[in-house]
Amino acid sequence: MKRQDCLELDRNDPLAATRSAFELPSDIIYLDGNSLGAAPRAVWPRLERLVQKEWGEGLIRSWNEAGWFTLPSRVGDKLAPLLGARPGQVVAADSTSINLYKALVAALKLRPGRARVIGDAANFPTDLYLLQAAIEAVGERRLEHLEAEAIATAVDDDTAVVALSHVDYRSGRLHDMAAITAAAHAAGALTVWDLAHSAGAVALALDDDGADFAVGCGYKFLNGGPGAPAFLYVAERHQAEIEPALPGWMGHVAPFDFAPEYEPAPGITRNLCGTPPILSLAALEVALELWAEVDMAALRRKSQELGQLFIARIEAACAGRGLVLASPRDPEQRGSQVSFRHPEGYALVQALIGRGVIGDFRDPDILRFGFAPLYLRYVDVWDAVEQLSQVLDSGEWQQEAFKTRQAVT
Ligand SMILES: *Cc1c(COP(=O)(O)O)cnc(C)c1O
Repeated sequence: MKRQDCLELDRNDPLAATRSAFELPSDIIYLDGNSLGAAPRAVWPRLERLVQKEWGEGLIRSWNEAGWFTLPSRVGDKLAPLLGARPGQVVAADSTSINLYKALVAALKLRPGRARVIGDAANFPTDLYLLQAAIEAVGERRLEHLEAEAIATAVDDDTAVVALSHVDYRSGRLHDMAAITAAAHAAGALTVWDLAHSAGAVALALDDDGADFAVGCGYKFLNGGPGAPAFLYVAERHQAEIEPALPGWMGHVAPFDFAPEYEPAPGITRNLCGTPPILSLAALEVALELWAEVDMAALRRKSQELGQLFIARIEAACAGRGLVLASPRDPEQRGSQVSFRHPEGYALVQALIGRGVIGDFRDPDILRFGFAPLYLRYVDVWDAVEQLSQVLDSGEWQQEAFKTRQAVT
């Protein structure tokens, strides 16, 4: 493989054209689209029109006339095909953390009398905290953290819920949703999946895999913008039975009756809580339109090729420099990111950013690189590894400035 071959791969890439739909600085190689997706150009004119016309001129009338009121479920239905979900099962609302809490409490309440809850100790901190909080809210449950391999055989008729991230945020490891869900269902348990690092990164089939609940972020691979609303999927078969943990007025059957008693809306919208953030929802809606033409099989293939190229190049160009692969080598077992360990990981990532190659660092020693196939080129991967090898060779990462931890890593 040579740099020339990467340029050839880019010329033949069926996804090459989508790059131009994004605003990207020409001197940056962006390997952090798994943390904050790039900005779709179409968001600008949409937000301008929204602020000037819908808000500025339409004022409060726009809740009806500009369709603001139905935006959470409309955006949910736009997202549904990407998740492998039929319409009416997804809403865009709140943050991933909040949706996780709603999903966990709902799932636990659907399985009373079952004491075990199975999680993964390596899960993202917010998932760990909220699983604990949901268990405390519902009561009489006991949390067990298991290794992924052990879960399918451990689920039994005392298990209420299995709650996992589909793709591990540190290692990029991809769990087998179909197999784990089938094992949970065989024992009568439910599943709650966090798709933060899978939505827009891997082909998903929530309906076919039998998922019960799922949540995920709008601002990662979905490119909805910083703090974009998250999403919540509830399989249709559960919707009528859910007692929302956060029964806000936007989930009421008739919010504008201003009734003193809560009565849940039918269907997915009972999971809404308060007034939705219209500017952010509109940005996410526009960002989702980019996916209409995307073949998810082609996207997954490119994502895997970018990851394999990255691993192969690092192992060739940075051999003997202390980088150890922290992700599954088999692309079938990996999401759309590759991580390496290095004891000086933080400083290395900072030095790389200094050279215009943006990845990120996760405690204690993980250098994490995300591959967003909608806008990343093969040649970017090649060039990023060249820069990393120069960072290692030059020792420039040893400068004090690169070792000082910032608030966001
Ligand atoms: C990014 C991420 C989150 C973020 O949750 P927020 O509520 O958006 O801050 C949650 N879970 C996982 C697994 C993540 O990777």
